[in-house]
Amino acid sequence: MGAPLELVANRAQGTGVYPDGEALIEAVRAVARGPLAAVVEDCDRKGVYPESVLRHLGNTGVLGVHHDDRRALGQPSAAADFGLAIRAAAEVSRVCGATGFMVWCHQVCGVYMEQSRNPHLGGEVLARHLRGQTLGATGMSNPMKTFAGIEQFLLKAKREGDGYLVNGTLPWVSNLGDDHYFGAVAALETSANEPAHEIMFIVRCDAPGVERRNCPSFSAMEGTNTWAVRLSDYRVGATNLLADPVRPFIGRIRGAFVLLQTAMGIGVTQGAIDSMRRVEPQLGHVNQFLEDRPDELQAELDGLVARIMNLARTPYATDQEHLINVLDARAQAAELALRAAQSALLHAGARGYLMSSDVQRRVRESHFVAIVTPAIKHLRKEIARLSQPVLPVAVAA
Ligand SMILES: Cc1cc2nc3c(=O)[nH]c(=O)nc-3n(C[C@H](O)[C@H](O)[C@H](O)COP(=O)(O)OP(=O)(O)OC[C@H]3O[C@@H](n4cnc5c(N)ncnc54)[C@H](O)[C@@H]3O)c2cc1C
Repeated sequence: MGAPLELVANRAQGTGVYPDGEALIEAVRAVARGPLAAVVEDCDRKGVYPESVLRHLGNTGVLGVHHDDRRALGQPSAAADFGLAIRAAAEVSRVCGATGFMVWCHQVCGVYMEQSRNPHLGGEVLARHLRGQTLGATGMSNPMKTFAGIEQFLLKAKREGDGYLVNGTLPWVSNLGDDHYFGAVAALETSANEPAHEIMFIVRCDAPGVERRNCPSFSAMEGTNTWAVRLSDYRVGATNLLADPVRPFIGRIRGAFVLLQTAMGIGVTQGAIDSMRRVEPQLGHVNQFLEDRPDELQAELDGLVARIMNLARTPYATDQEHLINVLDARAQAAELALRAAQSALLHAGARGYLMSSDVQRRVRESHFVAIVTPAIKHLRKEIARLSQPVLPVAVAA
């Protein structure tokens, strides 16, 4: 069990109060099992956005532990710890996959801001982001899929003075609120003989030219505050530019982007195993005839987590072997979440078929882990592409 909530609340008065990783994980568990567990059903069924829980998590310091500079958390000598960030986000996803996804949205937005080295997005702006005092998101599905040859850019930029104007619509961006912000990419209009060129930038929801529109209902993740975002002559300049050109920047952060997302798969799997164990005293006598039993799944999950923790030591590695390993770990996390959620339903029986059951919710959450960018199909396409042998020029011709 985690620390009692009052203790967490007291400790969380300021950040930087969990210098060691295990204490931080305990603090995150306490938030997940306390305030988050209290709203998870409303989040799933009524679309309630758990903003206060995200702020509470920010207070623990967990939203910034993967950053190079942790001074804002009162941890000046601590190094970036992607493994800790993934473990913590997995604890959140274990209780609520939707909130775990929003933690990832925020974490990865922090990566964009920090790695951009844009001073306007560093300093106190980044410090507030690390502490969860402001909340960030990511609209990168479309560019990630476009770079993989699955989609076309939905946002278009044209040069205007010393900056750009951006137009277009992203169909779904989660974790948005009136004063939230997210990273996005637009393709620059170029003349016929110019090479393709993109820019990456922060969109502030409250800026001129930004309009949010409701999305249709989803089968899960309703509490993620997911919106379609239309940009009309949205201005990009020195203060909100993340990368220009974009491709080298994406090449550098792609592994970190995908690796952080494994937390969702880990957490949903662990939550499913937890629920199987809960029914074991009553139903073990018959559940023993099922496949994917909790001990087997736990052993697989522990093996995968160990592999992910190893990859998390070099989050910005760009070599092909590392990248294939990261993509494969992300795909395995999704596949394991699907199997575990399905098996949990078989273990629980009718009680897991109630709409109010966490087992039922987790089946729908596991589907999201499998289809959100990079989806399993996208991951497999990328792994296949990266695994192609490079032929000598003479042979290739
Ligand atoms: C709940 C939820 C939250 C999301 N949050 C984010 C986020 O925060 N940031 C982000 O960048 N992306 C987000 N996405 C988008 C997600 O990552 C995928 O890009 C998206 O689900 C499309 O992937 P796909 O594999 O279906 O595309 P494909 O199978 O390649 O589909 C092709 C195209 O058809 C479009 N499409 C398919 N069905 C519909 C439909 N019914 N209505 C409109 N268009 C359709 C897809 O957008 C895609 O462009 C979210 C999606 C969902 C469902």
